[in-house]
Amino acid sequence: MSTTPVELEAVHGAHNYHPLPVAVSHGEGSWVSDDDGNRYLDFLAAYSALNFGHRHPDLVAAAHAQLDRLTLTSRAFHHDQLGPFCAELAALTGKQAVLPMNSGAEGVETALKIARRWGHEVKGVPDGHARIIVMDGNFHGRTISIVSFSGDHVAKAHYGPYTPGFTSVPYGDAKALEAAFDEHTVAVLVEPVQGEAGVILPPEGFLADVRRLCVENRALMIADEVQSGLGRTGYTLACQRDEVVPDLYILGKALGGGILPLSAVAADRDVMGVITPGSHGSTFGGNPLATAVGRAVIALLETGEPQANARKLEGHLRERLEAFLGKGLVGVRVRGLWAGIDLDPALGSGRELCEELLARGVLAKDTHGSTIRISPPLTISVEDLDWGLDRLGEALETLRGRVASRA
Ligand SMILES: *Cc1c(COP(=O)(O)O)cnc(C)c1O
Repeated sequence: MSTTPVELEAVHGAHNYHPLPVAVSHGEGSWVSDDDGNRYLDFLAAYSALNFGHRHPDLVAAAHAQLDRLTLTSRAFHHDQLGPFCAELAALTGKQAVLPMNSGAEGVETALKIARRWGHEVKGVPDGHARIIVMDGNFHGRTISIVSFSGDHVAKAHYGPYTPGFTSVPYGDAKALEAAFDEHTVAVLVEPVQGEAGVILPPEGFLADVRRLCVENRALMIADEVQSGLGRTGYTLACQRDEVVPDLYILGKALGGGILPLSAVAADRDVMGVITPGSHGSTFGGNPLATAVGRAVIALLETGEPQANARKLEGHLRERLEAFLGKGLVGVRVRGLWAGIDLDPALGSGRELCEELLARGVLAKDTHGSTIRISPPLTISVEDLDWGLDRLGEALETLRGRVASRA
């Protein structure tokens, strides 16, 4: 009796995802394939973890070279990749110091811990009273503390008791934010673009308002750039578009080059200095293999090419998607090579559209209800992008035809 990988997953894996029915076995650039010889264009790029495509030659070479030398020391000893990685990421972000972790959620937890410590030790908030302001519709990961301030019922339900100390305000509402500060507020945590929520763009000037209000209220501005950062928006950091400099950046996803989990917090010394030996850490955080790949990622970003390609394709992507408004789409938001599109709910769910795309050789993922996120590798060619968008047009046509024939 033969058992497929997907069947084994169904029987022996936890059911914490509901994947599309495709089992990928190979990837290169913007394309993946399965064992039956079907090819698919990757329009999700692992939620932006694959910003440089599958198996980018520079990144794979860096991983191979490091695999042949040293993979892990733990932080009990120095190794030769960590210092250069921290220096190079500090230079890329314009900050003085870097604290490496593994997953994005750990990066967020690290920033929250730094903010609480800073609040007590520097701002003078009584220990245990720190408040951090977050935004409605946020996505920052899956730990108990992070889901404690999530508005997503499915992500949060039945995981209580929840971590206190968080206040949520509507995303993009500077007035509500201003009113939410009090003397115990130590930080504001914000996504420069809300990715998981459906590529929700803040109103013009909002990030600058967050920056100003944090200064006025002596609180830290924490930008969660785990998904928006490292080229996705056409800038190295999404905050740069608005010329806003937060106190802390959280990076992840693409930092590991689609090869390994690697996250980091970057901040200046006056903030990072609250972290002392023993007060925070991770067995795998900043390991030789991950930081060697991270250094190759930083080198790619230093060329400016991935950012430039995202900026170059932004207008084209917007124009082509907006042409589908009224022809199946009711909303289009684009920033760089990153789009949230809202399917007319009368035509079906986001999941149904993704199934139609899969049948045509395009991998995409619905986020909430009828919203789909499009985030191909930043290395994609305009020809491949157009090929995928043509398939989207066909998929929308099919859904419209199906509804029309029912009427
Ligand atoms: C994905 C994501 C995270 C969590 O990253 P994980 O590596 O899945 O833990 C945090 N913040 C944002 C904005 C993200 O998109």
